[in-house]
Amino acid sequence: MIIAGIFLSFIWGTIWGSFGSTIVYRTNRGMSIVKPPSLCPNCGKILPWRHKIPILSYVVLGGKCGFCGAKINPFYIITEFLSGITGVFAFIFSDSTLSFLLNFFFLWSLLILTISDIMYLHIPVLNIVIATASAVVYQMVQGDYKDMIWGMLIGVSIPLVILLLYKFLRKKEGIGEGDILVMFPVGAYFGFSETLTIFILSTLLGGFVSLILLILGKSRESMIPFVPFIFISVILVFLLERLYLTDLRFVPRFLW
Ligand SMILES: [Zn+2]
Repeated sequence: MIIAGIFLSFIWGTIWGSFGSTIVYRTNRGMSIVKPPSLCPNCGKILPWRHKIPILSYVVLGGKCGFCGAKINPFYIITEFLSGITGVFAFIFSDSTLSFLLNFFFLWSLLILTISDIMYLHIPVLNIVIATASAVVYQMVQGDYKDMIWGMLIGVSIPLVILLLYKFLRKKEGIGEGDILVMFPVGAYFGFSETLTIFILSTLLGGFVSLILLILGKSRESMIPFVPFIFISVILVFLLERLYLTDLRFVPRFLW
């Protein structure tokens, strides 16, 4: 039963992964998500359904277009695979179908935002909307409105203050507007103190990686995507919270 659940949630995840890669590819090119149907960017032929089965088609066709043989960007199969893993992850840590769906769409949206930020330093707003809706419904089921609102406020206000301070002091952006948007659903899902924990954790991770890049000779001015660090911190806090079956309260609840 559990094996079947893991298998099905992986398949479920890959299907949404396929949709997610479409969102990333098209929103970063200013295209519509629904029209036109998927086609090969090389030969322009419309892809039939059997060329679009997540993971399987890529493997069967050897990573090439089934018509002209042009190489397909491995970003598609990577997105589908990670999305499948997200499905399994949500399945393992959810206790009902509803919580599976809410956890999945929350985490899947963050994954798609992460991939888009890495590839284009730009995030699709559609996934912010889906993540926020999932997080809000999740908290409504839990009944913790007050913490949800505090989480959203803290999630948006800290990076906003940093953004404004940086703009004012150094006349440039220390943090992207997209990162502030991503902290909104994170705040709604995790509530006040865990959101603060996630923000501190992702800032430390981001700072650590920037330092390594600096040592390796990368320019100080080059922008590095921040959403991946938020995503890693979200997974860590999510995992610790579930494994110890308790709310993580690294930060005291001094507000109430
Ligand atoms: Zn082709």
